[in-house]
Amino acid sequence: MTLHIEEIEVAEYEKVLYAEDLSVGLSCYIAIHSTALGPAVGGIRIFPYTTKEAALEDALRLSKMMTYKSALAECGFGGGKSVIILDPRLKTDALLKRFAEIVHSLGGKYFCAEDSGCSPQDVVTIREVTPYVLGLSGNPSPYTAWGTMRAMQAVMEYMDGSDSLEGKTIAIQGVGAVGGYLTELLFWQGAKLIVSDMHKERSLEMKRRFGAVEVSLDEITQVNCDILAPCAMGGVFHAKNIDLCKCRAIVGCANNQLLTPDDAYRLKKKGIVYAPDFVVNAGGVVNVQMEMDTAEYHPMRARANVDKIYKRLLSVFHIADTNGYTTDFAAIQLAKHRLRYGIGKRVEAVSV
Ligand code: NAD
Repeated sequence: MTLHIEEIEVAEYEKVLYAEDLSVGLSCYIAIHSTALGPAVGGIRIFPYTTKEAALEDALRLSKMMTYKSALAECGFGGGKSVIILDPRLKTDALLKRFAEIVHSLGGKYFCAEDSGCSPQDVVTIREVTPYVLGLSGNPSPYTAWGTMRAMQAVMEYMDGSDSLEGKTIAIQGVGAVGGYLTELLFWQGAKLIVSDMHKERSLEMKRRFGAVEVSLDEITQVNCDILAPCAMGGVFHAKNIDLCKCRAIVGCANNQLLTPDDAYRLKKKGIVYAPDFVVNAGGVVNVQMEMDTAEYHPMRARANVDKIYKRLLSVFHIADTNGYTTDFAAIQLAKHRLRYGIGKRVEAVSV
């Protein structure tokens, strides 16, 4: 075994590791941003990053966002993330198990979970080596989709004084695991749907099953609609395209939708209501929280906790309006306040 682990000093991060074992093709970063409110929790992203720098940057950005997401969702978790530099089609059990050994060596400071490129089956493989893994209760995507729909209802309440989605035009960018469930939920709410996906067969399926209008990848962010829902990748909104957006609000599950913090100001200036992604997409982490908090996983309790996204988002809008902040800044301030004063800190011993 040729496992090499290196600790990297990064300001404001509790622990950042680079680990590699070329005998199994493993090259990964684990970033623990904060454990102030509980063990750091964050998914394993398996992606063929072109450089190690890009992988590290992603791990840092995503782990910080997990800290804010978990603080706001009051699940008694901190923020962490791991990235494995690999085409997910090439992963093996040996690689996953070596990765699991590294997670195990952190002694419960970090709990990993699935993320893009990492399947529920991979989580089961990792569990054979370490108990410090969450997500065994099943697919988080329906919970994330439900939370996103509840956030949309909150946004309609905020904008129009009624949270009905009936007759509202909603454009969804990316109809994969979460976007697909979301499209179905919105169909049953009576929304008019517009979709786009780089896998054309997925958007065509939404057209066939839910009467969605299919548009091109370029058009989706520029269609006239009440709500635009980014449910694909990050960095969707930036200086060059915000002026072209014709939506009233942005509410989607994709992580890190804004390319830079300045984009929140650009959206505010244009009068577009932005629901911060890490408030909207907390359904998945709230769901896995139940695995740690209760002896028996309880889906109804998980759903009730995901429902709280509705009120939480309205609180964020209230803070933003009262202080003249962008909604993104308001949500970060609220999360930092909870971190500073230990609000929502996990008190009981973590049992695994
Ligand atoms: P997914 O891979 O199942 O779906 C993403 C879809 O977007 C795919 O169908 C893909 O073809 C499509 N896509 C990619 N680029 C596109 C583009 N430029 N235009 C249109 N479509 C494009 O992923 P997912 O699990 O549904 O997650 C979606 C997003 O939500 C990701 O950013 C993820 O990090 C975030 N998220 C997911 C969860 C969860 O529970 N799955 C939780 C929190 C956040």
